[in-house]
Amino acid sequence: MSPRTPRTSRSASRRTGLRPAVAQAAPPEARAALALRLQDARVALDRAERTLAQVRRLQSGADDDEHDPDGVPLSFEWSKAMAVRDQARAQVASLEDAAARADAGTFGVCSRCGRLIDPRRLAARPDATLCIDCARRG
Ligand SMILES: [Zn+2]
Repeated sequence: MSPRTPRTSRSASRRTGLRPAVAQAAPPEARAALALRLQDARVALDRAERTLAQVRRLQSGADDDEHDPDGVPLSFEWSKAMAVRDQARAQVASLEDAAARADAGTFGVCSRCGRLIDPRRLAARPDATLCIDCARRG
């Protein structure tokens, strides 16, 4: 009934060969560095969660008076453990985002200006989303 014309199929195959100009595959060493950091961050998060659980146990076992004569108040330990946990959690999330960008082919592309981020910056901070110029602009 409506056979495809050769012109249509030719333009379709040409389209599949195209890539967005800014997309790039993350280099294997960047992926490896990212995976390593993500692993470290997850270990740190796990440790922080355990510390938090430990403080929670101490707190629930403690009397209303949380002043331990030998040490710092549990509320201090608690907020410290919370801060460490939150930071570890944010780090994991940020690295997971970077890993997702590596899969999507947008790793190393500045999220603000669209230019490529300096590989040296990415080596130091694989989860960087801004190029140095945009980061400096704040
Ligand atoms: Zn930028």
